[in-house]
Amino acid sequence: MAGLKELDARETAVIEFLLSRVRLAVGVSLAKPFSNGRFAVLTIRQALKQLLQEQPYSALELSQLLSIPEKEVYGHLQHLARAPGQGWRFHLIPAVCRNCGFTFTKRERLTSPSRCPVCRHQSMKRPRFALEAR
Ligand SMILES: [Zn+2]
Repeated sequence: MAGLKELDARETAVIEFLLSRVRLAVGVSLAKPFSNGRFAVLTIRQALKQLLQEQPYSALELSQLLSIPEKEVYGHLQHLARAPGQGWRFHLIPAVCRNCGFTFTKRERLTSPSRCPVCRHQSMKRPRFALEAR
């Protein structure tokens, strides 16, 4: 497009701020900046995918990062678990009991267990999720 120029750091910061307001208003999240200075606005699921491709997150962290309810995060995660996208594998890092260290390796549900079957404690390190390149 004629007249398009690289943005400097201050202009980028202004645009990022404005986009954060737009995200809150229309329910889309994470604007992806491209090297040419233009932005694409991602849907929640695209944003979630991008986050999980970078590092593992718990559902609570994702709900905070994307400003959506945890329940909605689980919906997206369930979809991604079944259809992680070509070249990606959905990885569930199991919950761990904070008291005895019991690891919930056999649990397939995405939600955090409420109680440890070994010691009965209720304090869990939440399961985390990631997308790994195949
Ligand atoms: Zn335990």
